[in-house]
Amino acid sequence: MSLTVVGSVAFDALETPFGKRDRVLGGAATHFGLSASFFTEVNAVGVVGGDFTDAEWDVFRRHHINTDDIEVVPDGKTFFWSGRYDYDMNTAQTLDTQLTVFATFAPKISKNSKKAPVVFLANIQPTLQLGVRKQCENAEFVAMDTMNYWISSVKDELLETVKAVDCIIINDAEARQLTDEPNIHKAAKAIMDLGLRAVVIKRGEYGATLFTPTSFFSTPAYPLESVFDPTGAGDTFAGGFMGYIAAQKDINDDTLRRACVYGSVMASFNVEKFGTERVDELDYPEINQRFKDFKRMTHFDDIPFERAVTA
Ligand code: AMP
Repeated sequence: MSLTVVGSVAFDALETPFGKRDRVLGGAATHFGLSASFFTEVNAVGVVGGDFTDAEWDVFRRHHINTDDIEVVPDGKTFFWSGRYDYDMNTAQTLDTQLTVFATFAPKISKNSKKAPVVFLANIQPTLQLGVRKQCENAEFVAMDTMNYWISSVKDELLETVKAVDCIIINDAEARQLTDEPNIHKAAKAIMDLGLRAVVIKRGEYGATLFTPTSFFSTPAYPLESVFDPTGAGDTFAGGFMGYIAAQKDINDDTLRRACVYGSVMASFNVEKFGTERVDELDYPEINQRFKDFKRMTHFDDIPFERAVTA
């Protein structure tokens, strides 16, 4: 099944304890699309300025991502985000956000993108997300992301969007803020009660947890000794998760669990280098080896234990 993603395409300036980059390709739709492209056909919907060069388009081309619905505003500038991470790599400190062409972004979705059975609404204004959801009326599985800014500024609109999707993929702080519920299990249940099939809560270096109405599944993050740049890890997780789902005939608890592991696998590669560098150069043997590593890392034998007490 093909997949459509709507979201930001950006230039990022990044600073981590391990280095600095002044301008790399970024954006939620970019990180998501690259990751998902290893599993299925991806249509990206977004907007860029005239400063977007062949070098950036080549990244999309190399991964056979359909960019027909990425609008180009020739006299505009591409969305720019600058962030810094200190030793706590779970939290980005935003230094600068220049919305530029993204400020007036009105997603234009072609017939081809509308036809995709699987859709991901990356972090954009919730009413825009809802508009896209409604246009993709035949989609079988739609998931969304959001961020603290939308939860605090337009919560009611956001809740209307949540009610229209099948799955939400957010981090733990966002789940708590959205539901005013400090306990993550209760928060996930409150979101699920809005009518969702799945809630995925990302917990940075501690992994991700999947809730469905009848089950619970948790994966750790891959134990890496060198995390260079966590930017885009959440979107790369979502790309692996949704890409894998789009490649399945049936979406059930087992597929959702494996999707969660593929999401974690892809995110673990993304953080090994800056921006999109690592996922851009990935190959299937590496992906499949890491998938196996996750299985080994979390497997244990179900052997009951009873202490033998002698009188
Ligand atoms: P993540 O680290 O997965 O949350 O995503 C980081 C990506 O989101 C970066 O590449 C940024 O370009 C992009 N980004 C940052 N702020 C925003 C925003 N306000 N709206 C949309 N995308 C953003």
